[in-house]
Amino acid sequence: MDCVFCRIVAGTIPATVVKRSDDAVAFRDLDPRAPSHVLVIPTRHVPAVRSARGAEGEQLLGRLMTFAADVASELGLDIGGYRIVTNTGPDAGQSVDHLHLHVLGGRKLGWPPG
Ligand code: AMP
Repeated sequence: MDCVFCRIVAGTIPATVVKRSDDAVAFRDLDPRAPSHVLVIPTRHVPAVRSARGAEGEQLLGRLMTFAADVASELGLDIGGYRIVTNTGPDAGQSVDHLHLHVLGGRKLGWPPG
């Protein structure tokens, strides 16, 4: 499978990794939309949140969410606040088919997203 985020996990293409665990990696988005914009992905290829189901999906999503909150803390975002968002499918604008959480912070964020 030719997946750009699997390549980042494998280290075969460069990324600015900010945190890594056995099952998750956080790295800076190439096209940041906020002063802090990090992507949190599972090391295992899962296409999107809609494919993370059942007990295994529940465990994976829980771990990714707490990992993302840890990343946000380490980036100094707890006081100002931040947003965690995942795009799923074409209407949401998902452009990489490997589940990822966007962690955005460092400025006032508009609501709702466009
Ligand atoms: P989405 O549109 O929700 O699927 O988000 C995909 C994100 O991945 C976008 O914000 C892209 O800027 C980002 N992205 C794509 N390729 C890379 C890469 N090689 N390194 C870092 N971020 C990337």
